[in-house]
Amino acid sequence: MRTIQVANTFIDRIAVDVDKTGTREIGEGALVRTETYSYTVTEYRDEPRTEYVTVTVADPPTPEQFDEALAIACQRDPTVDEETHALALIEKIEQGRFTSHTPPSIAASDYDVFLPMIASTATPCLTPDVTVGCPPPEPVFETVDGSFVPLELEVRNEGGIQYRPIEMVVDRTTYDNIIALGVTPEEFMQAHVDEMNTILEASGVNMRVEVGEIRYVESMTSDQRGPWNVSNSGRWPLTSYDPTGSSGWTPDTLIDTGLLHEWGHSVLGLWDDYGFDVHAASADDPFSPGSTKIYAGPASLMGVPRDPVIAPWAVAQLNDIAAAGTGYQPHVAVGVTEADIPDRATLIFNPSLAGRAVTVHFRDPAGGFDEDAYLTGVISPDGRFVVDPSSLFENILDADSTSSQSHLSRTEWGTMLIAVEGASGPEYFYLDMTNFVEAQLDQGNEASIVID
Ligand SMILES: [Zn+2]
Repeated sequence: MRTIQVANTFIDRIAVDVDKTGTREIGEGALVRTETYSYTVTEYRDEPRTEYVTVTVADPPTPEQFDEALAIACQRDPTVDEETHALALIEKIEQGRFTSHTPPSIAASDYDVFLPMIASTATPCLTPDVTVGCPPPEPVFETVDGSFVPLELEVRNEGGIQYRPIEMVVDRTTYDNIIALGVTPEEFMQAHVDEMNTILEASGVNMRVEVGEIRYVESMTSDQRGPWNVSNSGRWPLTSYDPTGSSGWTPDTLIDTGLLHEWGHSVLGLWDDYGFDVHAASADDPFSPGSTKIYAGPASLMGVPRDPVIAPWAVAQLNDIAAAGTGYQPHVAVGVTEADIPDRATLIFNPSLAGRAVTVHFRDPAGGFDEDAYLTGVISPDGRFVVDPSSLFENILDADSTSSQSHLSRTEWGTMLIAVEGASGPEYFYLDMTNFVEAQLDQGNEASIVID
């Protein structure tokens, strides 16, 4: 037995802010004029990332393991004689190729040939009883037509907990990709359901998810895939899905937190929490665009990175829904409304800042914060500064924030910068909408927030 490290390259999908500037011609003939343009867009890029997986291997394979692997190789390709197969196996063993079963460093077709030689692996074994040479049974792949409607999934309320079933739809490509990991789609889904429930329980959410049904379809069109992001009906279609290509993929546990994030949308109706993050030139220069993260929103499965926790402001809302017994609400997401923030919030500063001028700034679409203050004032002699949260977040509250989970990722208004004038330059503090939601939960409509 020995332990070795195997390198695997994965593709990470990352969001990058890109500045676009240039000139363009508009019009025809004598009417042509040249305009310059400048804007920032967010693009997604695939970047390779290498991770190392520790695997423990039998060294060398026992004669029985070798014979078993040889039999499978012969059965797989009877056009080649046994001796050639044996030599090829020995060569692969010498190269150490049998030591990893984690794609993509080994071909899926080799997987069950080498499996008998792997004594145990560092990856938690989701397939305790995979029988070598006996791949999982071919599922019945349906050919679906235009009538491929989601199941009517109903939530179940029991003992103060709401259970939400998920309909997972797997196409053939997805099936092959999951099988290549050494697990069946059933095991893959159950592992993710278990992980999601661990996160919900640890976060104090009175909701659980459960396997509703897994449907195997030959392929799905985008129409059949459906508008999952607003339907919240519990269906999660996996079209040509490869977990190893997801930015949330953790090979050690075979869990894709990216998938759990999407269930956060489709099953729980949660918003993205990306919008709270702010990038700028630096913490000292928050008004200039840049790539330094100067403020991060709450740790959340719905943010980046995918922290294994539901943000506290959403916990309260999910628990309200669970307590009311409300089921899936198509086209409605868990969002913040005026009822979720205090009517009045007192910001309490260190008394040493009394009498100082304050300016409040929101994010600038170009990056960083807008230098033009949204609000100005002076800290009172007792260190207080009173604000009206509904006017601070009117852009979120007035927009149809309850109909789009992505609303926060588009708004510039989720996080604000408070600049306090000082003798040697301004001092900066950050607040986001979740601070106000949590203050109201703790204290009610006349909440105070300590600024430090
Ligand atoms: Zn999302």
